[in-house]
Amino acid sequence: MVPREEESLAGCLEEYFERSEQIPTSFFLFADENCSAGLMLQKLPGDTEQDSDLWDRLNHLASTVEAEELLTLDSETVLHRLFNEETVRLFDAEPVAFRCSCSRERTLGALESIGKEECYSILDEQGSIEMDCQFCHQHYRFDRNDIDHLFTGHTLH
Ligand SMILES: [Zn+2]
Repeated sequence: MVPREEESLAGCLEEYFERSEQIPTSFFLFADENCSAGLMLQKLPGDTEQDSDLWDRLNHLASTVEAEELLTLDSETVLHRLFNEETVRLFDAEPVAFRCSCSRERTLGALESIGKEECYSILDEQGSIEMDCQFCHQHYRFDRNDIDHLFTGHTLH
C-alpha cells in the first residue's frame, strides 16, 4: 500500500522506496492508449566511493528518456541510448507473474490477532468465519473446530 501524497504514480513509488525500504529509487513511467512502460533506477548497496556522482549522473541520464523510446524500443536499445558512456550489464529477462503470499496459516494468524472473544462472537452470529484475500480473492472458511484449535492448541468436538 502506497499513500497517494505525490502528484504522480512515479512520485508515490519513489516515496514508498524512500520511506519503507530506504533505498534511493527513481521511476520514469509512460503510457499511451495501448501500452505502458517504465524505467526504474535503484541504488544498490556497495562501494561507490571511487565514483561519488554516479547516482546523480545516472539519474540525469535516465531523466532524458522519452516516452516514445520506452514505449517502442527494446531494453537493450534504450539502455545503450541512455547510458552508452557507462558500463552496462544486461541480465537475462525473467518472466513476471502475480503471486500472492496469503495462506490458511497466515489468515489464522490474523484471526488470532483480533482475539478469541471477537472470533467466538462471529462464530455465534454466523456459524463460521469467512475471509477473502483482498489481493488474490482466495476464499478462506473457518469453523468452530478450527477456532477451538487456534486458541487452545487442541481440537474439541
Ligand atoms: Zn491472497
